[in-house]
Amino acid sequence: MGSRLGPLVRSSHLLSARLISDSSATTTATTAAAANAARSVSDAAAAPPPVDSATELSRESQLRNRRVAIQAAIREKAATSLLPPFEDNFGRKHTYLRIALTEKCNLRCLYCMPAEGVPLTPKPHLLTVDEIIRIVEVFAAHGMDKIRLTGGEPSVRKDFTDIVRRIKAVEGVTQIGVTTNGIAIGKRLHELKEAGLSQMNISLDSLNPEKYMMITRTNGFKKVMETINNAEGIFDSVKVNVVVMKNVNDMEICDFIEMTKDRNLSVRFIEFMPFGGNKFTLNKFFSFKDMWKRVEERFGDRISRLVDTPNDTTKAFRIRGYQGEFGFITSMTEHFCSTCNRVRVTADGNLKVCLHGNNEVSLRDVMRSGASNEELSETIAKAVKRKKKQHAGVENLQHLKNRPMILIGG
Ligand code: SAM
Repeated sequence: MGSRLGPLVRSSHLLSARLISDSSATTTATTAAAANAARSVSDAAAAPPPVDSATELSRESQLRNRRVAIQAAIREKAATSLLPPFEDNFGRKHTYLRIALTEKCNLRCLYCMPAEGVPLTPKPHLLTVDEIIRIVEVFAAHGMDKIRLTGGEPSVRKDFTDIVRRIKAVEGVTQIGVTTNGIAIGKRLHELKEAGLSQMNISLDSLNPEKYMMITRTNGFKKVMETINNAEGIFDSVKVNVVVMKNVNDMEICDFIEMTKDRNLSVRFIEFMPFGGNKFTLNKFFSFKDMWKRVEERFGDRISRLVDTPNDTTKAFRIRGYQGEFGFITSMTEHFCSTCNRVRVTADGNLKVCLHGNNEVSLRDVMRSGASNEELSETIAKAVKRKKKQHAGVENLQHLKNRPMILIGG
């Protein structure tokens, strides 16, 4: 990584100089990279020199060369965190990357997956794990610290935990979350936590098993509920995602809020969004205002508004006295484009700078053409610069040609 990003580094001399002088007392190096590299320095110093016919003097010079190489690695690693953020023409800095790990899913949710399914990209055209990690490294070098793994269903991958572990090892990544349907992930919660996953969003659109089956076209209700129960005790943050559709599950909103009474859960109601093949109609659309009426009727002045965190996509609330919270993701009626800090990479390697825009750039093709990280980084920067100020409203979006959501990842 360091050497691939090396040419990008231009403004790092001061920090590099500080690290060089620190490196004689390597334990004072402050960044994680420096600490790792420092460990390597002391490992190198402790290790016996290679056995060859060299004299004492040449062994010393080998050690010195090794130290110089490690110090250079420290400089490069530390310098990478100084690269400018990917910023668009509206001053939005992008610090949040969503990566789809697969196009496959073990559910067939009617609002997400077209009834006829989707043609899957042949495996050789999907990103390899090394390519995923390379993309994460480049983004992280530009200050991207939050990663969300999605799909398809990310947990259908056998190597899911390994991917989390490898992403966690990338310098600069501080938070890794997953969006999952919770069906096949239940047995791996502890290992995922240990690998570095800190946050889980679990999709659940009905508290009624039959209705769940109708929406997902699958019988998985019990497993998802188990996963939610277990995840609550393991992860710092567990969110339940509910896509609200008129005459399908809108009447369950208050029941979902009741789930937050004694549990440290955050339930988020998502406005139904149009995507390729999901048969969106305005008849099924249930707006934030409609949802709010339901909540207000039931909970009235017991509702308290919570403070939004920066770049939050959710308007968050709590019922007074309840442990958990709930919120609304109102992309269709009250978009939050002005604070958008996220970009997406699809399983086949396309960068999407807006969920509701159909401009895509193949990072896979750029990497496979032999591009350096500097070139990859330039491709990303240019795509981010082309990001529009805001996406269209629901009336127009329903006519926009976009991927099916299953091939984006939310
Ligand atoms: N398989 C995972 C899951 O079910 O959570 C991750 C992929 S799924 C595409 C990511 C998120 O997108 C889920 O929370 C899902 O509910 C949401 N989603 C899918 N289609 C949607 C739509 N048409 N409108 C709003 N949200 C949607």
